[in-house]
Amino acid sequence: MRFLYRKRLLTLLFFFVLTIAGLVLTWGMRTNVPVYMYHGIKDIPLSNDEALFVRPASFDEQMKFLAENGYTSIFAEDLPYAHKYKNPVVVTFDDGYLDNYTYAFPILKKYNVKATIFVVSSLVGKPNYMTREQLREMSDSGLVSIQSHSATHPYLENCTKEQIDEEYSRSKQELEAITGRSVTALSYPYGKRNALAVQEASRYYKLAFITFGDYSYSKKCAYEVPRAGVFRSNDLKSFENITRHRSRTRLKNLFMLVRDQILKK
Ligand SMILES: [Zn+2]
Repeated sequence: MRFLYRKRLLTLLFFFVLTIAGLVLTWGMRTNVPVYMYHGIKDIPLSNDEALFVRPASFDEQMKFLAENGYTSIFAEDLPYAHKYKNPVVVTFDDGYLDNYTYAFPILKKYNVKATIFVVSSLVGKPNYMTREQLREMSDSGLVSIQSHSATHPYLENCTKEQIDEEYSRSKQELEAITGRSVTALSYPYGKRNALAVQEASRYYKLAFITFGDYSYSKKCAYEVPRAGVFRSNDLKSFENITRHRSRTRLKNLFMLVRDQILKK
């Protein structure tokens, strides 16, 4: 009798441990997805913000690295389904500079890398920005997704609710009219937002991206998805480091955190 009782207890304990281990593994093995943030791809910078203009030769090396090392590029709006892909990464651009078409697009085609461009809809066709035809051609190629970076690139924190709604709805409409495809993702101008801007984003979009943040996409941060900026000063080694660091599983991240804490002592 006592033996039977102990056996039942052991069986229960076994399944309990198994369930906990399963839960920890499901949580911990979740892949993190690097989301890169680019602006211009150009040797001669357009503005004083030289850091934002990555040299075409560097961008070529970076895309080559992704293509040759088994990474799968997915569109920004596909982040919630990233677990379906092997080593997923998301390449994004902000602003819609003309050089995205002249320099980045040929490189994306060369390595078959998908990218998402967050376009300011009122700047389409203006000097140094892409035209409607160029946006449509990129979108039709199946390699580029055109998404929203607002209508006029304002500081959303200084906008009223009506202005924010206008920025979100107008850019969505105008860009959808150009590509004939849904616009479901937003990147906040300057990465700046307040609670209202975030709340309103959820009325028009499925995802919204910020500029920095050392964590990864999760449902909880669907309207504040962090990205890793890639700048003119990033050499291939640092691009590789960003990629490896941001592709780590949660379990590995936890392990590194604990290890760093112990080493600190
Ligand atoms: Zn911008």
